[in-house]
Amino acid sequence: CIFMSRDLSILKDFGVKYFSKRSLSNHPGRLEDKVALITGAASGIGKATAIEFINNGAKVVIADIQDKLGHETATELGPNASFISCNVTKESDVSEAIDYAVSRHGHLDIMYNNVGISGHTPPSIVDLNLEDFDRVMNINVRGVIAGIKHASRVMIPRRSGCILCTASVTGVMGGLAPPAYSISKFAVVGMVKSAAAELCNYGIRVNCISPFAIPTAFVMDEMVMMYPGVDASKLAGIIHKSGALEGTNCDVQDIAKAALYLVSDEAKYVSGHNLVVDGGFTSFKNLTMPTPDQVVN
Ligand code: NAD
Repeated sequence: CIFMSRDLSILKDFGVKYFSKRSLSNHPGRLEDKVALITGAASGIGKATAIEFINNGAKVVIADIQDKLGHETATELGPNASFISCNVTKESDVSEAIDYAVSRHGHLDIMYNNVGISGHTPPSIVDLNLEDFDRVMNINVRGVIAGIKHASRVMIPRRSGCILCTASVTGVMGGLAPPAYSISKFAVVGMVKSAAAELCNYGIRVNCISPFAIPTAFVMDEMVMMYPGVDASKLAGIIHKSGALEGTNCDVQDIAKAALYLVSDEAKYVSGHNLVVDGGFTSFKNLTMPTPDQVVN
């Protein structure tokens, strides 16, 4: 307290200078000389994040199962982007993608395990198709742990690195998505905490982001099945309208900017964290009280 009262003006001065200098961190260069590998970056959140990382000075390897789209995306993003074909359900593909990033750029600083798919919604848990469950877990959980494992293999010897994963609001509360998907996203948060606990010993940070619904390719495919014949802009509107925060919508750039923060030095002491980007959606339940005549004693 004595320190605070005596030196407040000095601290204030320091604070002003500090923050004005830090505000420069918005300029391209927050990821200067960093090398990132992003799975599922041919489209959607992964692609938006690749753009954000490149705009901030990084070199990005796009790893995706869609070869044609992946190549097109890499070409569109320019010389700091490259593409490698990768199916995250094959450990050898994930391992090779990481080795490719290292051989192309000399090292790997950032591994973003972003791939995820949805599952089918059974009428009841009794009808859950366990083959569908395995398929979702294979991509959303096994694919992510393969990425964490092989990124650690190359990051541990350098005693630095940053691992990021895409979880979901459906891994924060139940009932928002098909059970296999929701369970897989709870597992992503668990994997992040488990890996962060070990990898902190090597200076490696591990975090995840839990986005709210965004009308990307796989979400739109599902919406088309749920609302056949309804046009795409209306379907996107339904998704946006389901958000909580008035006056704005959740979009891929919101996730890309959260990712940029988590992998940048600004988050240098943040690890094991789940950054929920949902406009407050999971923070409240819109409680509709019944009227007295609706209550039967
Ligand atoms: P998207 O469909 O645009 O992107 C997914 C990408 O993953 C595609 O490019 C696809 O080709 C690729 N992919 C699928 N299976 C693969 C595999 N086996 N191996 C390699 N690549 C594969 O969807 P998106 O919304 O950008 O999804 C990215 C992540 O965000 C997923 O983990 C998803 O669960 C999560 N997420 C999305 C939302 C949303 O509403 N869009 C919300 C919360 C979380």
